[in-house]
This record gives sequence, structure tokens and C-alpha cells, in this order.
Amino acid sequence: MANAIVWAPEPRQAFEIIAKTKELGLTPVVLHVGAGDAQAYIQHGAAKVLVAEQPNLKDIQAGPMTDALADAVKQVDAKAVFLSGGRRGKEIAPRLGVKLRAGVVTLAQKARSENGKLVFERMFLGGKTLATEVPQTDIAIATFPARLFEPLPANPSVKGEVAKLAGDVRESKVKVVAKKPRKESGVNLEAAPIVVGAGRGFKSKDDLKLAFDLAATLGGQVGCSRPLATDLGWLTDEYWIGLSGKEVKPKVYIAAGISGQIQHTTGIRNSKLIVAVNTNKDAPIFKMADYGIVGDLYKVLPALNNAVKKQKGA
Ligand SMILES: Cc1cc2nc3c(=O)[nH]c(=O)nc-3n(C[C@H](O)[C@H](O)[C@H](O)COP(=O)(O)OP(=O)(O)OC[C@H]3O[C@@H](n4cnc5c(N)ncnc54)[C@H](O)[C@@H]3O)c2cc1C
Repeated sequence: MANAIVWAPEPRQAFEIIAKTKELGLTPVVLHVGAGDAQAYIQHGAAKVLVAEQPNLKDIQAGPMTDALADAVKQVDAKAVFLSGGRRGKEIAPRLGVKLRAGVVTLAQKARSENGKLVFERMFLGGKTLATEVPQTDIAIATFPARLFEPLPANPSVKGEVAKLAGDVRESKVKVVAKKPRKESGVNLEAAPIVVGAGRGFKSKDDLKLAFDLAATLGGQVGCSRPLATDLGWLTDEYWIGLSGKEVKPKVYIAAGISGQIQHTTGIRNSKLIVAVNTNKDAPIFKMADYGIVGDLYKVLPALNNAVKKQKGA
């Protein structure tokens, strides 16, 4: 089996990609930068971990990371590189593609092995088109969005090889001159089991309290459609769901006052159950909803909230 290098800034994302790598019939070799437990990757299915301790990698900048990944490819003769599709992944993948003269597919939604080639599917034209892409080079590079794949359960009894990454890593051409911790908003939509999505059906920022109250009762988080995070500016882009926002995968997604344009539904289509609340019975969201409530969110959300509270005995 050919080796594939896996790198993600968060271990959980690396675990997801390790699981997919194995499904593709490749051997996952994780590049691990900095501190942290290298064995955790092995427990989640990696065959080997290359630990990179080169000082130029400390800020995980695109230039040095490109060097490190190219070195990792050389060290284990890898035929694929799979990265997380976050900001760093977006910066690194094309650079690595140029350095290794390898075909790159970014933000792949699906991947499979076919006749010895890796085949990827990704969205185009604002999500209206699904393109199938097959890198034609000896090495294939792809990035995947977070939460697309399920990690394998950890097996603490497995032991694997941990080795040092060989090679020099150049100094970054961009210097980090300051770092300040950001005020934590506590929004982690990708991990939320329940998401209440708020759309333009809300008439004012204050009314979003209805969504926040319901989310709190359900133990979930609030997300929103693009206009609320951009044009209206009621919520920050951490809440923004969709093609150009976050992709969520909760057990339940409640779309309140959201019409269901493709650019939004792209970000929710892997939800296990979708409930839509909309006054317009012809709203596109009802086509993909498991449960549809044709009604006014100003009445439906408080009623749902009360019903759940009652059920909980609160
Ligand atoms: C390149 C590109 C990228 C984009 N990326 C994204 C993205 O990532 N995420 C995203 O969300 N959008 C994105 N968009 C925008 C997207 O096309 C839609 O414009 C947007 O999703 C609409 O938001 P909405 O459903 O909240 O608003 P609207 O389309 O205005 O829908 C509001 C809905 O609320 C209903 N409503 C009104 N009052 C009530 C009430 N009292 N109770 C219940 N329902 C009510 C209405 O019937 C309507 O269906 C993108 C667009 C482009 C061109």
C-alpha cells in the first residue's frame, strides 16, 4: 500500500483524514508539528508519525510547512498528501503542488480510489455544480473540510512508529511580529450536536434571543445565514453557515426563517435531521427538510422552547 501524508492543525481533523486515508487503501503517515502526543494519531489509525521539531515551523506558516511536507513525502515516498481544508491547508496545498509538481484538489467533498487513481468530487459555481477531478500526477494533493469524515475509535493498545522528520526547513518570508489571544466567543459550530440556524426571517438583532434561548434549552449553538453575518452584521462570521461559511454536521439542524438557497444548504446537508420553520410553504428549504413547519418563527420557536422545557421537566 502506498503511503499518504496527513496533516491538520487540530488532531481531531487529522483523525478524520486518517480514517478516510485508510478507506482509500492508503497508509496514513501523519506529520506532527510541535508539542502534543504523537501516539494519539497511531491510536486513531496512523501507521507512522513524523515529528517535526525544526524551529522554523513554530508558527505553522505556509512556506516552512510546504518544505516540511515535501520532506515528509520524500522521507516515506508518499503518493498522496491530505490536508485539512482550513486557512493553513488552503495556503499550503497550492504551494506544495508547485513544489512537487503535483495535482491539487481543494475542499474535496468526496474521494474514492478507482483503477489505481484517486478520484475527488468538489463543488463549483457557488455549489450548483459538482465536478469530478482526477490528479494526473504521481503524487496527488487534496484538502478536505473539517467534519466530513468520522474518525476511527481510539485503540490505546496499538503501537506504531514515531520518527523524526529529516531535512531543513527554510525561514518564513513572513515574520509573525505579535500574537494576542483572541477573546473566546465559545462558538464551535462544527462540534455542536444541535444548531439553530437563524435567517433573514428575523426582523431585528434583538429577536435573535428566540434562537439563542431555544439553542440553550436544547444544549446546542446558534448559527446563521450569510446576510446576518455580512449585510446586517448581527452576528460575527463564526456563526455563518454555508458555502463561504462553516459546514455543520449536527444531529439536528433547525432552520428558522432561512429560505434554503443552495449556498446555505451546502453547509447543512450533512446534518442528520433538518427541521425548517418558514412562513412560505414554497420555500426551497422544505425540499430538504425532514420536518417542515409552515409558520411564523416568532410563534414556533417559543412554542418549541416551552415544549422541550416541559419535556425536560424544567
Ligand atoms: C458566492 C455566494 C456565496 C454565498 N455563500 C453563502 C453562505 O455561505 N451561506 C449563506 O447562508 N448564504 C450564502 N450566500 C447567500 C445565499 O444565496 C442567500 O442569499 C442567503 O442564504 C439567504 O439568506 P436567508 O435564507 O436568511 O434570507 P432570505 O433568502 O431572505 O430568506 C428569508 C426566509 O425567511 C422566511 N421568513 C420571513 N419571515 C418569517 C417568519 N416570521 N417566520 C418564519 N420564516 C420567515 C421567508 O419566507 C424566507 O424564506 C451566498 C451567495 C453567493 C452568491
